[in-house]
Amino acid sequence: MDSRAPRAPQNKGMSAVRGRLFAFVREPMGHGDGGSYRYIEDGLILIDEGKICTVGPAATLVASLPSDCAVAHYPDCLIMPGFIDLHIHLPQVQMIASFGAQLLDWLETYVFPAEAKFADPVHAATNARFLIDELFRSGTTTAVTFGSVHRQSAEALFEEADRRGACMIAGKVMMDRSAPDSVLDTAQTSYDDSKALIERWHRRGRLRYAVTPRFVVTSSDAQMAAAKALFDEFPDTHLQTHLSENLGEVALVKSLYPWARDYVDIYDRYDLLGPRSLFGHCIHLDDNELGRLSESGSVAVFCPTSNLFLGSGLFNRSRMKEQATPITIGLATDVGGGTSFSMLRTAAEAYKVLQLRGQNFSALEAMHQITRGNAVALGLQSEIGSLDLGCYGDLVVLDTRATPAMAHRMAAWDGAIEDELFVLMTLGDDRAVRATFVQGRLAHDRDDRNNIRREQAEMRI
Ligand SMILES: [Zn+2]
Repeated sequence: MDSRAPRAPQNKGMSAVRGRLFAFVREPMGHGDGGSYRYIEDGLILIDEGKICTVGPAATLVASLPSDCAVAHYPDCLIMPGFIDLHIHLPQVQMIASFGAQLLDWLETYVFPAEAKFADPVHAATNARFLIDELFRSGTTTAVTFGSVHRQSAEALFEEADRRGACMIAGKVMMDRSAPDSVLDTAQTSYDDSKALIERWHRRGRLRYAVTPRFVVTSSDAQMAAAKALFDEFPDTHLQTHLSENLGEVALVKSLYPWARDYVDIYDRYDLLGPRSLFGHCIHLDDNELGRLSESGSVAVFCPTSNLFLGSGLFNRSRMKEQATPITIGLATDVGGGTSFSMLRTAAEAYKVLQLRGQNFSALEAMHQITRGNAVALGLQSEIGSLDLGCYGDLVVLDTRATPAMAHRMAAWDGAIEDELFVLMTLGDDRAVRATFVQGRLAHDRDDRNNIRREQAEMRI
């Protein structure tokens, strides 16, 4: 697709996608939970005005399709709901893969200089376009995204997501201390800019706002209060931030907040816990902290490639799930601390992190997490993450024989769908994404050579 095309007439008319349909109907209880998903060997999804209106076996549906309905047919591919990334940073898409630091030094050395460039709206727009291209190439159709401190970074992101029809939950970062002036706002300007963004973009089409204090280190008391005021004033926004990622950070937080019982307690005192609150990382938490996340219904967002890359630590999924009320978990790339835009790569690294914890992460649990599970974490399961009627026609078409290694592995496949999914998550990446549909429209076609050349030409501009 030409990503510079004018805003498309988004959803006119019917379209259909045919192939091997796979989607979850509930959370799987672990390996072998066959009741958690629906699989149709030769299925058809009919999309009308951007939303799924019919799903079933192709044999019974093809004959009744309207004569002008285009059918995209992928006979050997798995078709799933588009992936959902619960935590990614727009201003870090070009400083991904920066060498040799852990969190606090990495912010200082690489992140803040990269984020300062987003004062330039042209730079912000170029990178927003790149980010959404890359998400679609990876089969991701919904993302929860941090901007930079500059209002124009969020403007660029919302503008591009709206034009491309993607579901985007995003916000401008709020930070008023402990960083260079070029990436600081004030409590008042962060409130004013966030509010202006909410009034302009929140609930426009598929866009939603997330109030975005970066983390407690970079926000003053007054700014945390401003975040709370916004969160109260607009009660259907989300909140995104970071929590207990790195031991150096945890020690710094302890010194900055001597009155706090622990890290979670700080967000708690500012009254920012709850089901709409997404906390990135959540690694070094004690029983009290886990208890408060559980009681409040807050969401813990696991970012495995980032946690490994920055040497932050190993997320403890079982401990989250063992709470009296299991903590809602999300999974995310956290680019640029994270090292891949692909939720398949992210699921593979999650599996390895949990192996180091002596925990299992079955293919069913992983694929559920990056589709329906992340939708549930956002409270958006009636719109995204499944193939239920009424959901948006956001789809990823997956080629489980995309590379020689995958094809060779699949030649020894015994036909069990769960094994195929495990090959996909372990060996797959953007090469395994044959196509991506957003609201029923083709948004990425891996095999369209013209498309690739066009994208490369755009990036040279
Ligand atoms: Zn992050």
